[in-house]
Amino acid sequence: MSSPKSSETDRRDFLQQSVIGTAAAGLTIASTSHVNAETVADAAKVEITNDVDVLVVGGGTAGHVAAIQAGRAGAKTMIVERNAQLGGTTTTGGVSFPGLFDAWGKQVIAGIGWELVKEAVELDGGTLPNFAKVPQKHFHNQVFTNQFLYALLAEEKCAQAGVEIAYYEFPQSVSKTERGWAVDCVGFGTRRRVNCKQIIDCTGGAEVVEMLGFARLREEERQPGSYLFRMGQGHQPGRIRLHRLYVHGADSTNSRTVTLANMTGRKSILARVREKKQRLTHLQPETGFRESYRIQGETLITVNDYTSGRVFDDAISFAFYPVDLHTKTGVRPKPLKRGKVPTIPLGALIPKGSRNIIVAGRCVSSDRLANSGLRVQASCMGMGQAAGVAAALAAARGSTPLEVSLADIHGVLKEHGQIIPG
Ligand SMILES: Cc1cc2nc3c(=O)[nH]c(=O)nc-3n(C[C@H](O)[C@H](O)[C@H](O)COP(=O)(O)OP(=O)(O)OC[C@H]3O[C@@H](n4cnc5c(N)ncnc54)[C@H](O)[C@@H]3O)c2cc1C
Repeated sequence: MSSPKSSETDRRDFLQQSVIGTAAAGLTIASTSHVNAETVADAAKVEITNDVDVLVVGGGTAGHVAAIQAGRAGAKTMIVERNAQLGGTTTTGGVSFPGLFDAWGKQVIAGIGWELVKEAVELDGGTLPNFAKVPQKHFHNQVFTNQFLYALLAEEKCAQAGVEIAYYEFPQSVSKTERGWAVDCVGFGTRRRVNCKQIIDCTGGAEVVEMLGFARLREEERQPGSYLFRMGQGHQPGRIRLHRLYVHGADSTNSRTVTLANMTGRKSILARVREKKQRLTHLQPETGFRESYRIQGETLITVNDYTSGRVFDDAISFAFYPVDLHTKTGVRPKPLKRGKVPTIPLGALIPKGSRNIIVAGRCVSSDRLANSGLRVQASCMGMGQAAGVAAALAAARGSTPLEVSLADIHGVLKEHGQIIPG
């Protein structure tokens, strides 16, 4: 005999039926747990203060790796990211084919970046390249990655490493304190002061370095940016490349120049849709910028250092990619000579004459041609991980990243799966 149903059971049955009904009709409605002022701490507050060991500014290709590493090394770590998700050019820019983790038949960059890429590919049922094989073309060993999954995994790994994330915020001013830095950030409805011992600038264009008055380098004419989209055949993330539209003169200096690059790119894409009469099936939210500012570091990597595979005394990561300078008419990559594998020294991540700040990513101290190869994602991830270790150890010891012993940096990097040159 069936027992009489309570009204609560009736309601649950009805809800289950509604989900089954909508699923059958091709519409499933998923939901998260409720987000309200009780689950988002201090939601009503405008002025927030955080005291951390390491602040990472910019959660892009290099930044989220730096933060995860600093967190895993025991530093209280925070990321301030002006966009809506982690991954930067890898995700928001849509350049989701990171490379190169291998050189001449073996893996040369691993660690946290590789852990994320591998996990994203495996979760997506994709294919990883066989690094034991030297490919005919360098790009054959770039890894097709689902940009959406990658962003979700990056966020999960930050949470697991205890890294706090502040989206939609950016620093407005930075001042020196006895302990390190006071970084005043703004976002909508939020003003935040972050007191930290170390800053890792992963903004792509060394924006914090500039705020502190250290020198940056930039060319009069820069490589074009690209706006990524897909027309015709639908986008299959992690399987096919997006179409790329060159945005000449793209300049990532400030919100006005980025707005101009984005609107120029979108206008051209709209014109193409009209011209080709094809469906627009995917559009990234912003332009990817190949080139902007590089720091003037304690060491500057020259193209000769790069192509000769110089092993710097203070090398913290390998890098591998052809010299790859895009111009108005396209790109002709210049592959490295067989057996050559460039390295990145710690000194190229430290703004000259600075203390308590380190950078990682495409703003690495290098000449233009060296930078055209160094800027790729696996190398940025390698730099990010090393910067995370150097900053975490410096914060723990009350020193600056350049004073941390190289053996200690290498030791922690190895513990966290990275491959060390030399
Ligand atoms: C079109 C294109 C194609 C490319 N092709 C390849 C390829 O095939 N394979 C490859 O490996 N590499 C490729 N690259 C190079 C590579 O993707 C980038 O050089 C690399 O991702 C840069 O990493 P990053 O961490 O320095 O910067 P980004 O990944 O751009 O991250 C910077 C982050 O900082 C945030 N930010 C910036 N300023 C602030 C601020 N003031 N406050 C807070 N947050 C801030 C940004 O929102 C972003 O999230 C390509 C690049 C482009 C543009």
